[in-house]
Amino acid sequence: MAYELPPLPYDYSALEPHIDTETMHLHHDKHHQTYVTNLNNALAGQDALSAMQPTDLIKNLSKVPDAARTAVRNNGGGHVNHTMFWEIMTPGGAKAPMGELAQAINSTFGSFDDFKKQFGAAAAARFGSGWAWLVVEGGKLAIVSTPNQDNPVMDNPNVTPLLGIDVWEHAYYLKYKNVRADWVNGFFNVVNWDKVAQLYAAAK
Ligand code: MN
Repeated sequence: MAYELPPLPYDYSALEPHIDTETMHLHHDKHHQTYVTNLNNALAGQDALSAMQPTDLIKNLSKVPDAARTAVRNNGGGHVNHTMFWEIMTPGGAKAPMGELAQAINSTFGSFDDFKKQFGAAAAARFGSGWAWLVVEGGKLAIVSTPNQDNPVMDNPNVTPLLGIDVWEHAYYLKYKNVRADWVNGFFNVVNWDKVAQLYAAAK
């Protein structure tokens, strides 16, 4: 069994003007594909590990042989992170969370605007490449960030990521150049809040 690149759930141009078509092609077809290819290469001959669901694999890095562990961390994380990233965006979705998720965001962060500010601050504060996340653990929401292609479940398998923004320059540089804050604002125009709410409901 080899891991495979999932197709984008929408057209490459679907998130214009917030994410440009060229960035989507490079990001999905080249960057994400490379994580998948390198993950499969790292696990060559390790059939039991290769058969694991990607999220289970990165929750169990201690089971990966030493020689492959860093490659699996980076590329397995890259595969999981990007698979989620495509799913939590959509063209023309709700502009804000609704229902129980909205209530939880308001009670945890003050308001949706306060959440966006705190999430943006986490994205801005991540030095170099990485991700900022909205996660839930035991019903409690939190904002965290990770370096490189790390995923929050690597350090805490009880946490469930609900939303993640890629702040690697490959995610935004063609359109937003060096202005990461503008990328965060653009990202909020394409978040799939229905999907985030599904993930929240499933995690509870
Ligand atoms: Mn990326």
